[in-house]
Amino acid sequence: MKDRTPANVARFASLFQGRRDAFGLMQGGRTLSLRRPLSLFHYRLHLHERARLGIYPLLPDGSTRFLVLDFDGPDAEMAARKVYDCARNYGLPFAWEISKSRGIHLWLFFSEPISARNARRIARTVLNEAKVRSEIFPKQDRLPQNGLGNFIWLPLSGESVKKGRTIFVDPVSLKPYPDQWTYLTDIHRLSGQDVSEILKMEEFSTETIEGKFSWKGNNGSPKIYQGDLLPCSRRMLEGVAEGCRDAVTFRLAVHLKSRGYTLEQAEKLLQTWNVTKNRPPLEPLIITTKVRSAYSHGYTGYGCEDPLIIPFCEGSCVIKKKGFIDLMVAERGSERGYDGKDNSEEKP
Ligand code: SF4
Repeated sequence: MKDRTPANVARFASLFQGRRDAFGLMQGGRTLSLRRPLSLFHYRLHLHERARLGIYPLLPDGSTRFLVLDFDGPDAEMAARKVYDCARNYGLPFAWEISKSRGIHLWLFFSEPISARNARRIARTVLNEAKVRSEIFPKQDRLPQNGLGNFIWLPLSGESVKKGRTIFVDPVSLKPYPDQWTYLTDIHRLSGQDVSEILKMEEFSTETIEGKFSWKGNNGSPKIYQGDLLPCSRRMLEGVAEGCRDAVTFRLAVHLKSRGYTLEQAEKLLQTWNVTKNRPPLEPLIITTKVRSAYSHGYTGYGCEDPLIIPFCEGSCVIKKKGFIDLMVAERGSERGYDGKDNSEEKP
């Protein structure tokens, strides 16, 4: 990247703002989640190709300064196009980034922190309307206790820029903006007032938290919204047999916790799942115990390395593809005083 002047580095840092007390860093092929102050020095490292910087978008008070929709795979461009067109109807100025994996990141910036819950409502509404799926950053409405959530890698990343990746492009022609700095400097950021006006539109006001969770299924029983669950959890929700029901219940509770479900909602949902899907069902008391265990400690692991969970894993999972498994181990270590043991093996 040319023009990595101190002024441009500062502008870049002011646009891509997340938590200031933690960040992700990739250096020499190793990814770390670090709990330490983030400074312009780290942004400079990123822009000067010395390291890759990841930002945690979810702030400790449950707000965020940006929203990102992440599309991967062969249909990424088509899916992003549908969402972009829907979003335009609401005056949502998403910016297109060609990601490192040649997927698409759609970025929406805010001029002030807005609640992550509202940002995610915006995301879910346009995704539902476009009838496509994507990963949403921030991934949660609020942080689990002592958690950081998930970081996202920043654009304009070293060698990738030279290969036409991690750069912003014109959404119509998909040609890179010739001056990325000018584009980012002039980018439109929605104010809190803009967001409030958008959320008052009928389509958004009907997309309540209850709506997201589809609390009532067709037959009146609670139902889990599967839109942004990871592949293993969708498979596990189809029901499991004897031998892994305890472990699966615990991990499903962790998935629900990470998606912002309350303990009461998770317990109710998993009790219904148990009696309707598992053959044979577990004792209700075991479900209660597993869910409460998942919620009462700082568990964040999805069990990606647990032999009982691996049969439900899918290679297409973003956690797997992006190497987040190592990251989650590092993150849990930094959250809980990592002692060298793999916490993903912890059992309730
Ligand atoms: S990588 Fe982990 S989170 Fe993703 S599907 Fe596999 S087990 Fe689930």
